[in-house]
Amino acid sequence: MNCFECNKCPELVSSRSQIVFGKKYTNNNIFIIGEAPGKLEDEMGVPFIGKSGKILRKALFENNIHDYYITNIVKCRPKNNRDPNENEINNCLIHLKSELLQNNPKIIFTVGRKSTEVIYNLFNIKFSNISENRGNIIKLKYNGADIRLLSTYHPASTIFNKNYRSLFFEDIKTLSNVAGI
Ligand code: URA
Repeated sequence: MNCFECNKCPELVSSRSQIVFGKKYTNNNIFIIGEAPGKLEDEMGVPFIGKSGKILRKALFENNIHDYYITNIVKCRPKNNRDPNENEINNCLIHLKSELLQNNPKIIFTVGRKSTEVIYNLFNIKFSNISENRGNIIKLKYNGADIRLLSTYHPASTIFNKNYRSLFFEDIKTLSNVAGI
């Protein structure tokens, strides 16, 4: 199924300007997954280019991480940035799975509680809570290959929480180490 023709979620079809599919920068070893597009992402059709995206991209840049694929669990902006619901997440999984298959990443990096929970469930790993699961490097088999899963806080949650912010930067550093940068 072509993601650009998806009309599975009636509320999202009415709230979105466009479907925001993932974006690939140079190489696809690192696969970054957020939750859902925000206002600017919805307008421009690119994931993580708003306030959260600035925080994330700056941290990646400062750690010499320039090559990655970046996407979201849900590809359409929920109205007023509400959390996507379980139905919407399940409807959208087909697109995420196809992005994973196309990119065949060596590392999956989830940002935020929801994307971490969804990916943990997808790989049958027990999700506790983001504070316990972040920073852990998990070895997985994907498509017959060894890959790593690493998770961190959502960049938006680091704006007011200093503790989250330092752990977020620690996790981005870990990502660059795992990627051999
Ligand atoms: N937050 C997300 O999780 N994804 C985006 O693309 C933008 C903000």
